[in-house]
Amino acid sequence: MQSLKNEFIAQNLSENYNQLTSTEHPIRDECGVFGIMDHPDAATLTALGLQALQHRGQEAAGIVTVDGDRFFAERRMGLVRDNFTKNSVINRLCGNIAVGHVRYSTTGETAMRNVQPLFADMNFGGLSLAHNGNLTNALAIRRELEKTGAIFQSTTDTETILHLIAQSTKVGIVDKFIDALFQVNGAYALIGSLKEQLIGVRDPLGIRPLVLGRLGESHVLASETCALDIIGAEFIREIENGELVSITKNGIESFKPFPLVSERPCIFEYIYFARPDSLVGGKSVYECRKNFGRELAKESHVEADMVIPVPDSGVPAAIGYAEASRTPYELGIIRNHYVGRTFIQPQQSIRSFGVKLKHNANASLIAGKRIILLDDSIVRGTTSVKIVRMMREAGAKEVHFRVASPPITHPDFYGIDTPNQDQLLASNNTCEEMRKHLEADSLSFLSISGLYQALGHPNGRNETTPQFTDHCFTGDYPTTLQDRDGNQVEFQLSFLSTQTTTET
Ligand code: AMP
Repeated sequence: MQSLKNEFIAQNLSENYNQLTSTEHPIRDECGVFGIMDHPDAATLTALGLQALQHRGQEAAGIVTVDGDRFFAERRMGLVRDNFTKNSVINRLCGNIAVGHVRYSTTGETAMRNVQPLFADMNFGGLSLAHNGNLTNALAIRRELEKTGAIFQSTTDTETILHLIAQSTKVGIVDKFIDALFQVNGAYALIGSLKEQLIGVRDPLGIRPLVLGRLGESHVLASETCALDIIGAEFIREIENGELVSITKNGIESFKPFPLVSERPCIFEYIYFARPDSLVGGKSVYECRKNFGRELAKESHVEADMVIPVPDSGVPAAIGYAEASRTPYELGIIRNHYVGRTFIQPQQSIRSFGVKLKHNANASLIAGKRIILLDDSIVRGTTSVKIVRMMREAGAKEVHFRVASPPITHPDFYGIDTPNQDQLLASNNTCEEMRKHLEADSLSFLSISGLYQALGHPNGRNETTPQFTDHCFTGDYPTTLQDRDGNQVEFQLSFLSTQTTTET
């Protein structure tokens, strides 16, 4: 079996790294991360954990394991179940420490070299790194590093962190991590693995989630608690905003290196991104979504014969709405479960087609009825236009669209896939214009105040209540956006390999 070090050298020699520039979308990743320390079945458990996190990224997955001072990697395009359930793959992943990653990037091109966990041989040994989130100054740092001779192998912002760690003059890996992270801005939930050590870190605002669990004597880190559930691990706590944990055989050490600031977790985890059976910030995502529906019913109820969720993302909010408004809840749209999430296909043309593949009207139920359609969010409006039309074609008498989040007016730069501002339906249209576009009889969104109330802040959004990262609705970005404001141009790889990793 060939070690990862040799594999990297082989790749570097064989690939041509001319960089093309593009003004296309920057790479933004929706991702899930998982790591386990000191378990004989580290690779299998990581594959299971990634399976539970699959909703966070369906384009590619990877696992890196550590056995003594040797690292083994498998990275694949496609779903976890299609690649990491095979014994031939898992058996190659030796060792009792593992880090895994699922990824979806929004650029059309997906290069194997961008598939994580990344790996680098440092002067202190190997280091693999898995990242959920997006840095907002990665390109600016990259340019500076390149001026002094750094050679990047991928276009991911995560690689910038590896370079900064490699260049750090601090002694000890924890201090090198801290030194590197002091230089970056943006969102990161990171899991790193080294010989005999697992490291987890959340950015100072705690934008993206990261939780700690225990399975027997082993410790686990994961984006969401549903990844702990699948392997029977006990949830211990969240990694706090700005906290770094170092996990070794001797236990856990916690560091708080950054100036203390209030946390601002991403509100979109509650609305769409996280799985409803996860706990985020100590709250059940399912209950939060039901509360969004309840608030929405208080704010903008209309008399109708039934409430119909747009499955699956609208289901909990529709249950809450139906309950609060005493309107029957019905499954008026049937979802084909063998089709992935709408966005998890890179091109707009395929996305539109995807909605038809995914949903069908339960026509005999709907014909002649006044219906309330409930979805979690409107981004481009592609889904909602098609669903309203589908309901009309099925004979609905009235179609009222209710959205369990406020209008999305600003793009995300922290790891959620949202398009450029000009493609966001709500950034260019009033509510009435959107209603006409959707051809709905009425359209209402949950207010920002209602959203905060549903999340347990009775006074809504104000300076005295804890704030979330909610710029998608408010334009209030919690960090500088150096790359965007400096008009940094994204690099694209000129060589796109399509297959995988470690050779046997
Ligand atoms: P759109 O059709 O562009 O308006 O997208 C709205 C639909 O996509 C809703 O049904 C949401 O459940 C879903 N959605 C919202 N945000 C995202 C996201 N960041 N990634 C994938 N799907 C999303």
